[in-house]
Amino acid sequence: MSKTKGSQNRGSRYKALREEAYEANMQLPELGLVLFTFGNVSAADRKAGVFAIKPSGVPYDKLTPGSMVVVDFDARVVEGKLRPSSDTKTHAVLYSHWPEVGGISHTHSTYATAWSQSLKDIPVYGTTHADHTTVDIPCTPPMSDALIAGDYEHRTGFQIMECFSERKLNYRELEMILVGSHAPFTWGTTSAKAVYNSAVLEAIAEMAFLTESINPGAIRIKETLIRKHFERKHGPDSYYGQ
Ligand SMILES: [Zn+2]
Repeated sequence: MSKTKGSQNRGSRYKALREEAYEANMQLPELGLVLFTFGNVSAADRKAGVFAIKPSGVPYDKLTPGSMVVVDFDARVVEGKLRPSSDTKTHAVLYSHWPEVGGISHTHSTYATAWSQSLKDIPVYGTTHADHTTVDIPCTPPMSDALIAGDYEHRTGFQIMECFSERKLNYRELEMILVGSHAPFTWGTTSAKAVYNSAVLEAIAEMAFLTESINPGAIRIKETLIRKHFERKHGPDSYYGQ
């Protein structure tokens, strides 16, 4: 907004993006999706080729829009005084390979993380799940020792993409994944949608856990019901608006 040229102007160049990232990050504790500093959200500006992300190790109550770090899609810091989140390279890999992603959210929310640690996909047991996606939420295999020894956060991005390509999933249609032995990542066209997906995933994960606890022999929802629910929300004649 400043009309002055030079460094002062450069300092405010990504103000709106930092504010978007800040608001999205603050949603995580509000929705009960994080403890302490676990978790991070980023918001991308595709035209500028950058994204703003939470700084590393700063508690949520100490965050400000100005503390957000702006980095490019190679995870190099473009603007900001603090160190970006340790998961920044994972975000950068996804942004650089998936052009329609505008926001990414990573949490260690309890139920979704428990499924990640169990190395189990979340079966599509009911209509809450089917309203958002028709497939099981995939869980990646744990990372190999060779990859862990390398650039771990960078490789996590590829671990996510490889799981999607192996299972022939489309990141535009399914905006969530469980990283095996770790925790969930979600994304969307905006950072707000990515956070929304984190909350949806946590709810689906909790319901699936309870379903299996009540009935260890629970079976997936019928294909016809899956289609009906998904299409009433996402199909060409969608009428869903609960
Ligand atoms: Zn994590």
